[in-house]
Amino acid sequence: MECPNCGLLNPEDAIRCDCGYYFGVGKLDKSSNLKGIGGWLALLIFRFWMAALSGILVLPRSRMLGSLIICSATSIAILLGKKKRLGVTLAKIYFVLECILWVLFTILAIMEGEDVVMIWKYAGYALGCIIFLAYLYRSRRVQNTYA
Ligand SMILES: [Zn+2]
Repeated sequence: MECPNCGLLNPEDAIRCDCGYYFGVGKLDKSSNLKGIGGWLALLIFRFWMAALSGILVLPRSRMLGSLIICSATSIAILLGKKKRLGVTLAKIYFVLECILWVLFTILAIMEGEDVVMIWKYAGYALGCIIFLAYLYRSRRVQNTYA
């Protein structure tokens, strides 16, 4: 049968067309059209390139940590850009580790009685990691792009 939405010929027993149209219900699943690098996913990749840049700033203080950040962030950004599923897995690990780091910084800042602004800044970074983690797990675009 022919899809009324895109005109593609589908097998008679098809439930769903590639374009996201459901034959039984006669409805279009809009979330299935979310695919490719765009929206929040583009922002996420951009964030990894920024992280790689920030690694360069860390280099003078710690060679090891700096190069670790540059290498991991660059590889994840490239893998995600090339639509490799491994990039999603590595990005999840990266955010878990980064989140732990910011939580530790937050606790240290509280214990050492640092400026409230700094404490909130660290806590904010930790929260940012959690938000991106949730996005990686829940996003339809991520699921469709790296299927
Ligand atoms: Zn269709």
